[in-house]
Amino acid sequence: MSSNSNNIDWSFYKKNGFTPLVNVSGTMTSIGASIMIKDAQKAMGSISPYFIKMHELQSKASMVISELTGAESGFITASAGAGITLSIAAVMTGKNPGLIERLPNTSGLKNEVVVQSGHLCNYGGTVDQAVRLSGAKVVSFGQSTQVQDHQLYDAINENTVAGLFVVSHHVVEYGQMSFDCFCKICQEKGVAVIVDAASEYDLRTFINNGADIVIYSSHKFLGGPTAGIVAGRSDLIQAGYMQNIGIGRVMKVGKESIYGAIAALQAWKVRDHTAIRNKETNALKLWERIATSFDGVQADVVDDSTHNPLSRLKISINKEIFKSSAASVAIALSLCKIPIIVRDHEIELGYFYLDPCNLADGHAELVSSNLKNVLQNALKKPLSEVNLDKHRNSSIQGYLDWK
Ligand SMILES: *Cc1c(COP(=O)(O)O)cnc(C)c1O
Repeated sequence: MSSNSNNIDWSFYKKNGFTPLVNVSGTMTSIGASIMIKDAQKAMGSISPYFIKMHELQSKASMVISELTGAESGFITASAGAGITLSIAAVMTGKNPGLIERLPNTSGLKNEVVVQSGHLCNYGGTVDQAVRLSGAKVVSFGQSTQVQDHQLYDAINENTVAGLFVVSHHVVEYGQMSFDCFCKICQEKGVAVIVDAASEYDLRTFINNGADIVIYSSHKFLGGPTAGIVAGRSDLIQAGYMQNIGIGRVMKVGKESIYGAIAALQAWKVRDHTAIRNKETNALKLWERIATSFDGVQADVVDDSTHNPLSRLKISINKEIFKSSAASVAIALSLCKIPIIVRDHEIELGYFYLDPCNLADGHAELVSSNLKNVLQNALKKPLSEVNLDKHRNSSIQGYLDWK
């Protein structure tokens, strides 16, 4: 069965001079997103020698997307980020080629997109820039941790073309307007509802509950190639796909990725979700046993905040007792001979997560042996303190250091 079960040939790294990695951070673009499932790998290779009419290939994608999401239609683009830009473009231009070619100039068009403040997050790039790339304007409403209905009513005016709703662990977790409420108000005001559900496992709920367009990533939980999946109302999907004569041209996706994404969607239907969940649970138990054998280190299994069927191990470190901080342990793990990349976006709060969603064969054991070594070494000699402000800026530094 196409599961995440995967034998890794470690010599790949050595041959190419690349740093080997074990990923327990989730699906992160900066380290290659996910382990591609075999069906998608095969599909990509199998289509590569052929010419094919892209409209036919995208029609097939549309049928499969429709089957899995319940939406009328769909298309594949370069990424979910591109999907946001193209969806906003679609609601502004419709199927008018003149308007499509004119973007990002939106003069004379409705061009305001309402988004609650707490949803303006960063997934490697920013939601707000993905909207602005189309030429549209972001109109945020509410405060980051408190949103009330009147604020959305007040934000919507005659220039409002869409409402964007972001579903993610990156958005503020409390005080937010629910999807149902957001949808109801947008519908009442005649505003199209676009949902960024890039890393959600549930392919149906948003379409079912009134979204006009929903966007998913192919390269996250689906284990497909890097691509974006856009599903929704036929007229809007067609307008979104038509952006390929305009701003969508620089977000081009090739036949290999379209066919690979189709294969990933088809595999999702028959994936043995229970077996994968069990494998993940076993990994969490293995790591939990190691972590909790150290004084001052706590391990809790935490369910995903957006209700994906995924749990992670939260490792909290009490520096008073353990003498080394969570940040220093996370960094020590990333400096192991085979670096272990943990989920550290809340590290200043004294914890990190181990995410089991992307484990190749043997990875769970590598995580536990390295975790044990790092914690034992820290016990012998406390790890040096981490400059958290420097750490916070490290993604930028990574680019500046690149040659
Ligand atoms: C990952 C993610 C994106 C970006 O997805 P890509 O397909 O990598 O462009 C956008 N929004 C959210 C909420 C995400 O989690």
